[in-house]
Amino acid sequence: MRPYSTNLADERLIIVVSGPGGVGKGTIVDALVQRDPNLWLSRSWTTRERRDGEAENAYVFVSAGDFESHISRGGFLEWTEFLGNYYGTPRPDERNDPGAPDIVLEIELDGAQQVKQQYPQAILIFVLPPSRAEQERRLRGRGDPDDKVFARLRKAEKEEPIGRELADYLVVNDELERTVDEMINIVNRERAR
Ligand code: ADP
Ligand code: 5GP
Repeated sequence: MRPYSTNLADERLIIVVSGPGGVGKGTIVDALVQRDPNLWLSRSWTTRERRDGEAENAYVFVSAGDFESHISRGGFLEWTEFLGNYYGTPRPDERNDPGAPDIVLEIELDGAQQVKQQYPQAILIFVLPPSRAEQERRLRGRGDPDDKVFARLRKAEKEEPIGRELADYLVVNDELERTVDEMINIVNRERAR
């Protein structure tokens, strides 16, 4: 097992999971870290409101003022504005990082590009929906209102070609169990390199 360090330039595997809204990224990474205790899921900060039924610890929910102060302190590894809200990955430190050897970031494409620039060794897994219709069904099933559904679908159309280009691995999230198996295989393959 690799030694624990908050320095991501060290030997920690950095797995970046990205892909369009509603494709199932959050569901997949939760299952992934449950299956593999050597993976640690970084908890992002956001200024968006918590969704009905969403876990209280899904994010660190903060005000725009608090988020902006954290930006000026250099507290984020990467951050972006996504459909009117800020989202960012706090820099791992002793307080927020329990020290599992390898780190998982579930972030959108702009953030994934920032991470890749800083840590070229990071592995980007871009998750695709089986179809746009199924992505829409999942967004609605999660309770997203119409305007959010359309905004996320429009963004997906624009970003998918860039994601395909940038990705180290493309994974279609058809059956959840199968998808998680495929991700575990990818992580193990990368560890063995
Ligand atoms: P994202 O984090 O990519 O925005 P979520 O993890 O919130 O997506 O998933 C969106 C919805 O799709 C959720 O209701 C989730 O339960 C559902 N979902 C995730 N993966 C699958 C799958 N393989 N098959 C069917 N529904 C799924
Ligand atoms: P949602 O509002 O659906 O939870 O998230 C919207 C988008 O923001 C998703 O694509 C999600 O992956 C992304 N996201 C979540 N946390 C972060 C983060 O810390 N940084 C970046 N760049 N994107 C994030």
